[in-house]
Amino acid sequence: MAGSNFYIWTVGCQMNVADSQRAAEAMMRAGYTQTFSVADADVVILNTCSVRESAERRTWGKVGALARLKRSRPDTIVVMMGCMVHPDRAMLHRQFPIVDHFIPAGDVDELMASVPKVEDEWGTQLYDLPTASGVTGFVPVVMGCNKFCTFCVVPYRRGRERSIPIPEVVEEVERLASHGVREVTLLGQTINHYGRDLPGRPDLADLMYAVHEVEGIERIRFLTSYPRTMTDKILEAVADLPKVCEHINIPFQAGDNDVLRAMRRGYRIEQYIELIHRVREIIPGVSISTDIIVGFPGETEEKFQRTYDVLEELRLDIVHIAPYSPRPGTKAYEMGDPIPLEEKQRRFRVLEKQHERISGELNAALLGTVQEVLFEGTQRGKWKGRTRTNKLVFVDTREDLAGEILPVRIDRTSAWAMQGELVATAARSPLATV
Ligand code: SF4
Repeated sequence: MAGSNFYIWTVGCQMNVADSQRAAEAMMRAGYTQTFSVADADVVILNTCSVRESAERRTWGKVGALARLKRSRPDTIVVMMGCMVHPDRAMLHRQFPIVDHFIPAGDVDELMASVPKVEDEWGTQLYDLPTASGVTGFVPVVMGCNKFCTFCVVPYRRGRERSIPIPEVVEEVERLASHGVREVTLLGQTINHYGRDLPGRPDLADLMYAVHEVEGIERIRFLTSYPRTMTDKILEAVADLPKVCEHINIPFQAGDNDVLRAMRRGYRIEQYIELIHRVREIIPGVSISTDIIVGFPGETEEKFQRTYDVLEELRLDIVHIAPYSPRPGTKAYEMGDPIPLEEKQRRFRVLEKQHERISGELNAALLGTVQEVLFEGTQRGKWKGRTRTNKLVFVDTREDLAGEILPVRIDRTSAWAMQGELVATAARSPLATV
């Protein structure tokens, strides 16, 4: 198999992106070369998502397009991994006859065992991989989820929570830093449950203190927090550690207690509101993002209005909204899908408009301020980076800013992004902006 190429396609959350990075690095370690043209690939890996129907539809489209390739080059190996891979392999083979191997979400070992060997050995340890690229990197630290919210397939596809011990995480972060990564995001579906299954029960705060010591890493983020189990110790660590960014993602999903109960989220909305006040009290200047589902079975207009009212009260920085999409195999699937799609889309638009207004106002308050931005790359000829609070900033300059953390004066804002100019500093003056 000398000179073999692989192509990898990813849809879904940051955990999937991290899995794809690990898969790509393991393939390269095994002697494969990454190609960005599917036509040149000997192995095609589809890393799928099953959290929403729309994500599944994208995979179906991709498989349809690949069917032509497989007809003309039948020896191309097609691998499907990620959350669409459920235990009923016979059904999967019937549904996707062109797919040769089905690999459970995140199982890089099984992926490597299923593709032909190019070189004699390959790494099978979680983090024993040679390369990394880019300024920012994802580091999975808790796999799986124990919560079983009624709408969610994740616990069925990714299994129970398993934490990676602190020394292994630190080793991986050191490896990323040695490749030029300056910001790491620690990942878990319930990141604040980190360490519950480890000896001595270290928590996310302990992990952040350890990662904070890694030289070369300037920023640390973490995703996704489960509301009921967020502790003051974790919040205080965020406030205390200079490298940990003041941004927290805490989904609340619905503003009505009956809907929350039907979702089996395990908290009342009053507790969520109280948590947000606590987060803001402990971490000055924090930005908060959340996830919302509209049109869950039983969400009447009145119950939907409660979600709107909570968002109005809390004025969160970023709101990810999704129309409810029933997922086979979940508890909620048995409740049917009684709210028509048009109504779900209407509720989606109502919240999106509200979010645009609130985010626009929050960002406008930053006009004229100087923000510290880590630059990641270019987009449409401008440099793109993020503030510590995870807001997108564009700067028009000819300088190479990759990996730089620089002060930027904000001169234009919208709900989705901001624009600004580099601020001259003693170390960088004059600046070659155009
Ligand atoms: S906490 Fe709930 S929504 Fe999040 S991954 Fe676990 S089951 Fe899914």
